[in-house]
Amino acid sequence: MNHRPLPPTLPETDRTRHRRMRERGTVDRAALEAILDAGFLCHVGVVVDGHPMVVPTVYGSDGQNLYFHGSVASRSLVAAPDTTVCVTVTHVDGLVLARSVFEHGVNYRSAMIYGTPRLLTDPEEKLAGLRCLTEHATPGQWDYARRPNRKELAATALLALPLDEASVKIRTGAPDDGDGPDAELGLWAGVLPLATSFGAPEPDPALTDGIPAPPHITGRSGTRLGGQEHGNARVSDRPSAGAGAG
Ligand SMILES: Cc1cc2nc3c(=O)[nH]c(=O)nc-3n(C[C@H](O)[C@H](O)[C@H](O)COP(=O)(O)OP(=O)(O)OC[C@H]3O[C@@H](n4cnc5c(N)ncnc54)[C@H](O)[C@@H]3O)c2cc1C
Repeated sequence: MNHRPLPPTLPETDRTRHRRMRERGTVDRAALEAILDAGFLCHVGVVVDGHPMVVPTVYGSDGQNLYFHGSVASRSLVAAPDTTVCVTVTHVDGLVLARSVFEHGVNYRSAMIYGTPRLLTDPEEKLAGLRCLTEHATPGQWDYARRPNRKELAATALLALPLDEASVKIRTGAPDDGDGPDAELGLWAGVLPLATSFGAPEPDPALTDGIPAPPHITGRSGTRLGGQEHGNARVSDRPSAGAGAG
């Protein structure tokens, strides 16, 4: 895979320039990478036969490209290399419960990536992309599981979307009406944190007795997926603007 040096700042384009709640946006590439590293599920938005389709799918990222895959028969994957796609990755960190309904919101980290994905056809490049995708979701699994054979590779479409044009938006902290007139209402307000964590591994009922779950799987049990500290540590620095999570 080609590794080009990417600028530490995300270039602002007409598509990626934040218009609402600009102060929640950042052009720091490290913030984009942190959001991508923290998850493995994205939504691919693509126009197929004139209609928008938003497809949830797993991804891997190596800092240069976002890889996503599926069946060669997948309509969205067939259409994607011929058109601009928009991929989103979202982490919800909590519900922001304000005194007024108007000021309710969500603490989140989200990224949107625009571009035209490339269909990988070179077997070596394809294997490297699939490795990235597999290891991104479950580190250690590429070396543990049986790798794709030629037939399976041929049945798999793998796309690489360059991480050149992307935007990041992050909200943290408490509700925004703590210093407004509604603070006098005597209502509770704050953040209800939300986190996704891995449970205990559940063995396949068809598993032959005596095959233990490997440490790279058991070790994740009880850990949080791409978590960040909850709480109201950093209060949003914008003046109250209302109307949803913005
Ligand atoms: C979990 C979650 C829940 C949300 N709920 C609401 C809600 O209920 N109501 C609401 O108004 N907004 C909500 N937002 C924020 C929403 O995603 C948009 O940022 C906001 O609505 C502005 O939309 P716009 O169409 O005006 O975009 P603009 O600000 O015009 O978008 C311009 C460009 O900014 C970038 N951009 C915009 N939003 C995001 C984003 N979230 N992440 C990364 N890049 C972005 C894109 O590149 C986009 O093309 C939520 C966000 C998240 C992650």
